[in-house]
Amino acid sequence: MNDRTVYIKNSLSGEKEPFVPLVKGKLGMYVCGPTVYGEPHLGHARSAITFDTVYRYFRFLGYQVRYVRNITDVGHLEDELNEQGEDKIAKKARIEQLEPMEVAQNYTNLYRDMMARLNVLPPSIEPTASGHILEQIDMIEQIMANGFAYERDGSVYFNVMDYAKKHHYGQLSGRVLEDLLAGRRALDGQDQKKHPADFALWKKAEAGHLMQWRSPWGMGFPGWHIECSAMSIKYLGLPFDIHGGGMDLKFPHHEAEIAQCHAAFGQAPVRYWMHNNMVTLDGQKMAKSKGNFISLGQMFSGDHPLLEKAYSPVTLRFVILQAHYGSTIDFSNQAIKAAEVACGKLLRGLQLIEGLQAKESEDVDNDLSAQIRGTCERCYENMDDDFNTAETIASLFELLRLAHKTMQDLGGVSTETLTILQNTYRGFLTDVLGIQDETKMSFQDELLPEVMDILIEVRQQARAQKDFAFSDYVRDRLATIGIQLNDDKEGATYATSRNL
Ligand code: ZN
Repeated sequence: MNDRTVYIKNSLSGEKEPFVPLVKGKLGMYVCGPTVYGEPHLGHARSAITFDTVYRYFRFLGYQVRYVRNITDVGHLEDELNEQGEDKIAKKARIEQLEPMEVAQNYTNLYRDMMARLNVLPPSIEPTASGHILEQIDMIEQIMANGFAYERDGSVYFNVMDYAKKHHYGQLSGRVLEDLLAGRRALDGQDQKKHPADFALWKKAEAGHLMQWRSPWGMGFPGWHIECSAMSIKYLGLPFDIHGGGMDLKFPHHEAEIAQCHAAFGQAPVRYWMHNNMVTLDGQKMAKSKGNFISLGQMFSGDHPLLEKAYSPVTLRFVILQAHYGSTIDFSNQAIKAAEVACGKLLRGLQLIEGLQAKESEDVDNDLSAQIRGTCERCYENMDDDFNTAETIASLFELLRLAHKTMQDLGGVSTETLTILQNTYRGFLTDVLGIQDETKMSFQDELLPEVMDILIEVRQQARAQKDFAFSDYVRDRLATIGIQLNDDKEGATYATSRNL
């Protein structure tokens, strides 16, 4: 266990605070996961990679981490602010004529697949909202018993005005009650609420609603905010260490989580709130209506009018980590291509550094040795400083520069210094930042040409011995898997018709 102090910018205070875990050496973290009704996109990637890196760094320091990231498979309505419209998943199911759970499962599988490609580690627990209806009903009953919620015709609403008399509503988002009314339209069902700022804990299912459960208030389904409260508390206890999510979730989602917990249990749910910033595309906010919405699948295949080519998952991960999670990232072909080059350099640097041999048992160049050790320490300091991955990447480049110097330096550094260099470089690049060479990429780019050279040589030998039947057999077999051999005077070349 490494006893370093990590500083986290706590969204509650707006300040960087030293992280003190509730239990020494342990960490409980909850992050809002996807609403599974559509293809995972760049915004999903940013949030998942941000908190994956937080998870990875604490594990790297020796913490025992319980990381909970939910799947929202019910309760997220189309018109979020006004809590109106259809459930996003039920709507998709109706349009595609599928079972809602089929839609949720389909997009959950796709999300997990994309996250694995981005080298995002699976969380310790991945609870679904539909699997925790009882816990949500329990918590709603507790809030009602304490006088902070009321029922109207089978729906239950949180009473924001009553709550605000005793507690600070808006402590996370900085909003004041008057602001909360802005942007709300008078809609059907709004009149059920005592106050327009009230939010739904439970919604009555209208006739024909695809997803509904039995509750003390009749058939219905839970609100989106209560799901994260119920599931985080169930698996992490009260309070727990870190709650994360995208900045767009601060209000109303996370503000509601704080209010629900105070209303039900009389205490704050979370000690450190963390929010990652958003992504833009060529300076524009991503939106389906603008035609600049790019899914992760399109990113990896290059199949989108705005993309000049396909980009690998490791490149995408690198682009995201090149910025601090608190800043916005603007995606452009130019930026991603630059990141591709930089990421390749760091990965090849790993091979170079792992291959370095120490010549001496003691440092011959003490100055170089001190620089290496100092930069290794800086990798930790950068991550301790609110997970500054951008600066950590800069330190890895500096280590690479020093490694080149070590090779040129006739005396070099000791085995001990070299071991520190190798462990730090590998540890931060692959374990903490999760930047790893992709087997598929390296097979295609490096191994396949070598394998083909061997096959062509074997075939050439057969032809030299006039065994044309064998040489034709090799050519035809390769053709069946989409590789064309073209014989010419010099020998043979090959082309693939397959997208490897
Ligand atoms: Zn949530």
